Amino acid sequence: MNRLLEASEVKEFKAMLDDASQVVLTCHVRPDGDAIGSTLGLAHLLRRLGKEATVVVPDTPPRSLAFLPGFKEVVVYTRYEPWCERVVHDADLIICCDFNTPSRQDNLAPLIQGAPCRKIMIDHHQEPVRFTDLMISYADMSSTCELCFRLIAAAGLYEELDNDSATCLLTGLVTDTRNFSVNCKHADIYEILERLIEKGADKTKIVKEALLTRSYWSVKLESYALAEKLEVFTDHHAALVTLDSAELERYHYERGDTEGLVNRALEIRGVVYAIFMRQDPDCIKVSARSINDFPVSEICKDLFNGGGHRMAAGGEFRGSLSDCRQRLIEAMGDYDSYLGHNLPRIEI
Ligand code: 5GP
Ligand code: MN
Repeated sequence: MNRLLEASEVKEFKAMLDDASQVVLTCHVRPDGDAIGSTLGLAHLLRRLGKEATVVVPDTPPRSLAFLPGFKEVVVYTRYEPWCERVVHDADLIICCDFNTPSRQDNLAPLIQGAPCRKIMIDHHQEPVRFTDLMISYADMSSTCELCFRLIAAAGLYEELDNDSATCLLTGLVTDTRNFSVNCKHADIYEILERLIEKGADKTKIVKEALLTRSYWSVKLESYALAEKLEVFTDHHAALVTLDSAELERYHYERGDTEGLVNRALEIRGVVYAIFMRQDPDCIKVSARSINDFPVSEICKDLFNGGGHRMAAGGEFRGSLSDCRQRLIEAMGDYDSYLGHNLPRIEI
């Protein structure tokens, strides 16, 4: 299993851990199950190794992850700026999980980039930018949590993995693969699942908490969005859902409430890619998913200053929601060549 990783990287990773005593773990803005799972999963392991470990995140994680062991200790930069500054200043190692460029940390980026200590990136996004001393980046991994598990095993630390670590790591695997339904390139991902269950992770509970439990208003908002706001572009095999701030307010929107919405639009027979645009206070947040290897990451990169994975990507647009929508619609034809042949018609 471990042959996928570069031996020299594993060695350096282990040496950097051995040298550190106060470690900060951090991730991208709007953290998801993989971002929180990987940082907390490593934090639990580091504590077992006798180190101080603090998870510092750019903004509030979703409530769906509150079941994770250690969730309450996560320090949110937008709420506790001075505290974050102190722990980052005192750290002798920073581990950057699940992001490939400093800008993915928004307002936290200058603090992390300005820290004088050594840094490690552990990530699975395409086209990483080199901003750490050690860059462990594998775009073919399902999740940063999968990569963390492989690193831990390869570094000889498997015995130190406890139930808490296993729970956090399995959560990232479960959320980034939507319970092993997408993005499972390496068959031995199921061996990792087995190992994590052996360590005490409760997969049924993780799936229920992280993927299948939501608020009343989240269900109502998704239903409204699909019933009233879904547009289908049959010639381009595309689906689009937009929600403006008034609509979000009407449905008492809270962070995480639209998680999964874009996947619902992708379920329509004949749809190859689906895009969701949400009017956040600071920008239009774009979320994109596809099938058949259609590169939504290119759309996000070209049009929305974003990126991600080929079939699961996102971006941000500065401007009005209608301009954002228009920008996509006008550009759809440019991506038709990626659609492939013999696609089922979208029947409306
Ligand atoms: P989501 O749609 O769940 O927000 O994000 C899907 C994927 O796209 C994730 O892997 C995420 O890292 C990436 N992504 C989301 N938003 C952005 C963004 O604004 N910029 C970049 N570069 N990637 C993003
Ligand atoms: Mn991830």
